[in-house]
Amino acid sequence: MPSNASGSPDKNAAPPLPEPLRVPVADSHTHLDMQSGTVEEALAKAASAGVTTVVQVGCDLRGSRWAAETAAAYGNVHAAVALHPNEAPRIVHGDPGGGSSRQVAREPGGDAALDEALAEIDRLAALDQVKGVGETGLDYFRTGPEGKEAQERSFRAHIEIAKRHGKALVIHDREAHADVLRILKEEGAPERTVFHCYSGDAEMAEICARAGYFMSFAGNVTFKNAQNLRDALAVAPLELVLVETDAPFLTPVPYRGRPNAPYLVPVTVRAMAAVRGIDEDTLATALAANTAQAFGY
Ligand SMILES: [Zn+2]
Ligand SMILES: [Zn+2]
Repeated sequence: MPSNASGSPDKNAAPPLPEPLRVPVADSHTHLDMQSGTVEEALAKAASAGVTTVVQVGCDLRGSRWAAETAAAYGNVHAAVALHPNEAPRIVHGDPGGGSSRQVAREPGGDAALDEALAEIDRLAALDQVKGVGETGLDYFRTGPEGKEAQERSFRAHIEIAKRHGKALVIHDREAHADVLRILKEEGAPERTVFHCYSGDAEMAEICARAGYFMSFAGNVTFKNAQNLRDALAVAPLELVLVETDAPFLTPVPYRGRPNAPYLVPVTVRAMAAVRGIDEDTLATALAANTAQAFGY
């Protein structure tokens, strides 16, 4: 094979281990099942960087079962279970390709299939090691108007499940801020609600602050074009701020584009501390306490 079509030979290589945090924190949102290597390796590497706890997030039934099993096996892994907002319409419409298979004859699962899948999420949400219901919410970026109804129905059901089991609600909100906030208000948000990969601006951060919603910042807070996220982080109450990787996605600068993993949390924490104008240890102390508070562990 030719060496590398895109140029740099280490473009896909894992970034180096950052200097460890002195105060350990949690990665509040990760997908270990989408990362390379074993769970043991990922956890050991994370711990060596001062990231001693992770919340493993499921996006479909298989991933949610895996999250629950993994959290049962490791004391420092907590699970969140859900059907991702892009998964719900696939279950209803039977369209795994999100549009490309439109001409292909398919068996739509319909509302009954969604109900069945939600019943399984409900069962998983009852488990002790499952601390969150999510990621759920709305995604108008990946899912078109034809998927809106299924997405909203699924979101409302997840809110109800989270409340009934007293678990944290983990929100995925992509280009759907107003509708996510409206539906949360209509349903009544659970006591603990986390906006994962917070993507709103400073004005929305003030709305979240008033509602007591946690805002979890991912590696994209370091991106050059993400001043709106830094403005939001600057005004968010410190006690509502979390940090996450959403790994393998959203690798922080200067490693943008390379594979992300929980051990890279310190890179984002340091960038966040600079935005807040506080020292790393103070921020890390708050992040650790806030994540435990949000997920109730
Ligand atoms: Zn998400
Ligand atoms: Zn995610």
